Amino acid sequence: MKIVLLGGPGAGKGTQAAKLKDEYGIPHISTGEVLREARSAGTELGKKAAEYMDEGKLLPDDIILGIVGEKLEMQEMKNGFLFDGFPRTIPQAEGLDEMLDNKGRSLDAVVSIEVPDETAVKRLLRRAEIEGRTDDNRETIEHRLKIYYDQTEPLKTYYRNRGLLKSIDGIGNVDEIFERIKAVLG
Ligand code: ADP
Repeated sequence: MKIVLLGGPGAGKGTQAAKLKDEYGIPHISTGEVLREARSAGTELGKKAAEYMDEGKLLPDDIILGIVGEKLEMQEMKNGFLFDGFPRTIPQAEGLDEMLDNKGRSLDAVVSIEVPDETAVKRLLRRAEIEGRTDDNRETIEHRLKIYYDQTEPLKTYYRNRGLLKSIDGIGNVDEIFERIKAVLG
């Protein structure tokens, strides 16, 4: 099972990814999580990531593709994987296709979790109080939403054209949404 989870900030990708990982027994790769870990470890990548993340900007595609390329070489990725927060731009999606192609592999499904902006903003502001993520403040959230519409939403057309896109309603409780995702994955 090779899956990509798509959705704007606050769509609930991370929450559902954790459940899908258990359900299907596949590794879950969140590029946002990789970058946050690099930050707390204080690596060069982490320092660079901090500059972009705190402004709600995307990191350059070549950096992200480098990270993902390394992950794809790992043994545990052979039986499938779940990407969350990647790809986020058309060049990232093309880069992923190329890397998979070179290995004679391809994606099975792209699940897009849909929530209205007001819901997403409310969830992120609530998360800000609980987790204190440095990029969960109103200004950065608005910028992340704008970037999502400009750069990430076009991926829906990209994957729809390849027959991979499954859109699901992201409003409801965590388990209901999980059931919807399992239903479309079959
Ligand atoms: P969100 O809750 O906004 O979906 P993520 O944890 O996926 O957050 O990502 C947080 C931040 O990390 C992004 O705003 C961006 O700065 C950076 N980031 C994560 N994934 C990518 C990616 N694929 N391409 C570029 N930047 C990324």
